[in-house]
Amino acid sequence: MEEFPFEISPMYEGERIRKEGMFVELGGPKSFGLELVRAKPMDEIEDDKVKIIGPDLKDMKEGETYPWAMIFHIGGELVETDLESVVERRVHDFINYCQGIMHLNQRYDVWMRVSKDTAKKMDSFEPFGKAVMMLFKTELPFIEKMQVTFYTDEEEVKKQMETAKEIFKVRDARTKDLHDEDVEVFYGCTLCQSFAPTNVCVVSPDRVSLCGAINWFDGRAAAKVDPEGPQFEIAKGDLLDANTGEYTGVNEIAKKLSSNEFDKIKLHSFFQSPHTSCGCFEVVGFFIPEVDGIGWVNREYQGMAPNGIGFSTMAGQTGGGKQIVGFLGIGVNYFYSPKFIQADGGWNRVVWLPSMLKEKIAETIPPEIIDKIATEKDAADIQSLKAFLQEKNHPVVATWAAAEEEEEGEEEEEVAVTAAPVMMPSAGYQMPAMASMPMAMPMMSAGKTGGIKITFKKAKISIERMVISEKK
Ligand code: SF4
Repeated sequence: MEEFPFEISPMYEGERIRKEGMFVELGGPKSFGLELVRAKPMDEIEDDKVKIIGPDLKDMKEGETYPWAMIFHIGGELVETDLESVVERRVHDFINYCQGIMHLNQRYDVWMRVSKDTAKKMDSFEPFGKAVMMLFKTELPFIEKMQVTFYTDEEEVKKQMETAKEIFKVRDARTKDLHDEDVEVFYGCTLCQSFAPTNVCVVSPDRVSLCGAINWFDGRAAAKVDPEGPQFEIAKGDLLDANTGEYTGVNEIAKKLSSNEFDKIKLHSFFQSPHTSCGCFEVVGFFIPEVDGIGWVNREYQGMAPNGIGFSTMAGQTGGGKQIVGFLGIGVNYFYSPKFIQADGGWNRVVWLPSMLKEKIAETIPPEIIDKIATEKDAADIQSLKAFLQEKNHPVVATWAAAEEEEEGEEEEEVAVTAAPVMMPSAGYQMPAMASMPMAMPMMSAGKTGGIKITFKKAKISIERMVISEKK
C-alpha cells in the first residue's frame, strides 16, 4: 500500500478538530465549501491526479479560513451519472478516515478542518487527495479511474459553486414526475448506522434521503452496481395507508434494521411513527405546540428559531437514529415532494422558516400560504409568531379556537371527575412509556381533594395499553 504522511483508519471517523488544534479551516459557516463527483469517460481522466487551484496548504496562514471546493471525476465500465450522488456521499466517510482531517456536511455546505499535527506532516493537499482516491478505489471497485481538483482560490470556488448548484438542481428534479405509487421498490441506506445504529433510511420517489444526497434513482444505481453495499432494495409490499405513506415492506425493514426498536415508519407523517433521523439531515422540523404548527430550520441558519433553540441543539435532540415525535430531520428536496408531511397538514401546518431557506425553496411553497409563513424577520419568539399568524390568518389559527373549546370542556370534565369517587381497578395495569414529545411542560398542581391534577396543553399522546395496579 502507498505510504501517506498521516494514518488512515475508520477509527478516526469521530475525530473532532477544535479551534485550538486546527491549522486551517476550509469552507464552513464563515466561508463556502463544496464537494462534487462527476462521471467522465475513461479517456478523459488522468488516474490518481491531484490538481490544486489556488493556495496550497504550505501557502496558507495558521488559524485562517479558506474557501474550498473538491471536484472528483470518476470513470469505469459500470460508472454512470446516476452513481455520482452515491459516490459523493462517501466523500464524508473517506475524508474522515484520514487522521487530523475533519469533514462535516455535504454538497454545497462542506466544512473541513486540518489539524496542526497533520499540517506539520504535509505541506500540500496532494497526499490527502491521493489517500481519499485510494480509499474510493479500494471500497468501490467499480471506480476504475479517478482524479480530483481542489480549489482554494475564492473566485474559482464561487464559479464551481454556481455550476455545482445547477447540477444538484438537475439531479434533484429527476424524481419530479415519479411517485411512490409508480414503483414497486424503494431503497434503503445503512451508511449512517455507524453512528446512529437504529437509523433506517428509506428513500422513495416522493422522499429524498435526509442527507439530501440520495434520491430514488441514486439508490437504484447504487444497489445495482454494489448489491452488497450500504444501499439496497426494499420491496414496498402492501399499502396500509396512502395518507401517512405506510407500507408493509417498509415496516418490516424498519423492524429488522432497528433491531426491533421500531415496527413502523410512515414516510409522510410528522407525528405518527415518523421517519428516523440520523444526524446528517439538511433541515430539522420542530413542532411548536403554542401555535399548533411546525417550524423548520436549516443547517446553515445561525440564529435561533422562535422556540429559542438553534439548529445544532435541535439536531442533537433529533439525531441518533430515533423516531422523535415532534422533531423530524429531512433533506431540502423533501419540501418539493407533493406528499410533504401530508398526514399532518402539509404546507398548511408550516408556520416558520428562516428567511434564507424560505427564499431558497419559495418556488415550491403554495402561493396561498407563502406570505402566511413567518421568518426570523417577522417573528423571533412565540408571542410575535402567534401575533403574525393571527394577523395573516394562517390556517393553523382556525384550530386554536377549537383547541381552546376542547380545553374548556376538558376542564369541566376534570372538575366532575375530581368530585366523583375514584374506582381503582383490581387487576394490574401498567403505564406505557409516552412517546417523547416537545410539548409545553405539563402543569402539575395539588388537587383540592388530594392527589395531583396534570394538565397537558395542546399535546398529542397515543397510548396503546394502560396498566394501573393497586398499591399494596
Ligand atoms: S442520511 Fe440516509 S441516505 Fe444519507 S448517508 Fe445517511 S443513511 Fe444514507
